[in-house]
Amino acid sequence: MIDPWSSAVIDYEKLREQFGIKPFADFLSDIDNPHPLMSRGVIFGQRDYGRIVKAMREHKSFAVVTGMMPSGKMHIGHKMVVDQLIWYQKKGAQIFIPIADMESYSARDVDFEESRKLAVTEYITNYIALGLDFEDKDFHIYLQSENRKVQDLAYKLARKVNLSELKAIYGFSNSTNLAHVYVPLIQVADILHPQLEEFGGPKPVVVPVGPDQDPHIRLTRDIAERFKSIYHFIPPSSTYHRFITGLTGDKMSSSKPKTAIFLSDSPEMALKKIKTAKTGGKETLEEQEQTGGSPEECVVYEILLYHLTPDDNELKEVYQECKMGNIMCGECKARTADKLEKFFQKLSHKREKARQQAESILQ
Ligand code: SF4
Repeated sequence: MIDPWSSAVIDYEKLREQFGIKPFADFLSDIDNPHPLMSRGVIFGQRDYGRIVKAMREHKSFAVVTGMMPSGKMHIGHKMVVDQLIWYQKKGAQIFIPIADMESYSARDVDFEESRKLAVTEYITNYIALGLDFEDKDFHIYLQSENRKVQDLAYKLARKVNLSELKAIYGFSNSTNLAHVYVPLIQVADILHPQLEEFGGPKPVVVPVGPDQDPHIRLTRDIAERFKSIYHFIPPSSTYHRFITGLTGDKMSSSKPKTAIFLSDSPEMALKKIKTAKTGGKETLEEQEQTGGSPEECVVYEILLYHLTPDDNELKEVYQECKMGNIMCGECKARTADKLEKFFQKLSHKREKARQQAESILQ
């Protein structure tokens, strides 16, 4: 069982086999100009992604849904989802961003006012600063608690879901509060509502998620089938990306500040943090010169791969230099810190400009 509300580290291969998630690489050669997260294997799995590839190739209507859960600060791991949204927006997708304030309330005990505030100051501000176009005609963002259409759809869909099914999927116990038990239905409606007539009717929809969110995807796909004769839903497609490793070597998590570089960190703070990151270096410099480092186990390399080195050749060079023992971790960290500082300087400047627009989004 995968628990979408815990932060356990996940064995990706096992997960793929156990839940029937297919390799993303199967579609890589069919995608025009794939995002580096795709070509570098960070996005490792998919369900029914062929529908999305087809829609993109034939310039047909398709949608992307990805929620933001305002329960903490946004860290660089969260940036991965925004990068994908920007890529899909350029491919002509309708974008839907539910702000999961009902989930935050029921599962994380965050009240609605606090959720709204966090959504604006942390998430929306950063999404705009990172380059997502909120003014695009096919762009939709909403608070779950204020979207009556989604709530109505959730209620109707709940008619064909029972408690033992939700217990089996999510491991709910007799002491789980009922708001928490119901909230997966809201998420199902978030994912399916872009296929209602008012949004253009049935169409391929993709949900880019971390593998911990797969229970929601499986439930949504099942429910889409159960309501096929009424709404003609196409079961949603999904992609799965790896989590970014935290600075300490565990999963990066907003609730564990020592593991995370937050997007709202100052450039100086980000710099300080990267210097504490766990590397794949050896015990001594002599040993590293002789046997090389392990970029596969290095958080610094991962940050370069996910976020800071768009050029594949440059990334390969770092990998080779590390493997051959031609570069030591001190120098490599200093170079990465330099890139990170530039990225954060630019981002904090853009965030200043984004703040006013962000304030107006949920009004
Ligand atoms: Fe990581 Fe760089 Fe050290 Fe290699 S040299 S282990 S990539 S920090």
